[in-house]
Amino acid sequence: MTKLVVTRDPVFGCELVESPRDRDGYGMDGRERAHRAAWKRVHGEIAAGMELGHRCRRRNCRALHHLELVTRQKNEQDKAWKRRAREVTCPRGHAMATNRVVIPETGGVVCRKCNQEAKEMR
Ligand SMILES: [Zn+2]
Ligand SMILES: [Zn+2]
Repeated sequence: MTKLVVTRDPVFGCELVESPRDRDGYGMDGRERAHRAAWKRVHGEIAAGMELGHRCRRRNCRALHHLELVTRQKNEQDKAWKRRAREVTCPRGHAMATNRVVIPETGGVVCRKCNQEAKEMR
């Protein structure tokens, strides 16, 4: 098995799989995309019709608190920055007004409080 190279982004809280990556830029873990593999280890199988969206919009990020199980339709809608900017709470219910962390390059929006909690769990 290819060794996974993962770096942590201390500013945005991402866990970025630098290599291996697939053609679309997703991090790979064995034969599976790394974010899906990481999710399944904790939450189990992903239901049919559901997708794992990246709140940070970085395809090679596998930080669990940046992943969101959503319908395909919602995943597409969430790619719109305008929609993200209107969010009142993060998926865990933190107020986005005070916890919003914007990742400008990708247009992602993550929650500062979730980032903090993930850091403390390590
Ligand atoms: Zn991320
Ligand atoms: Zn949060």
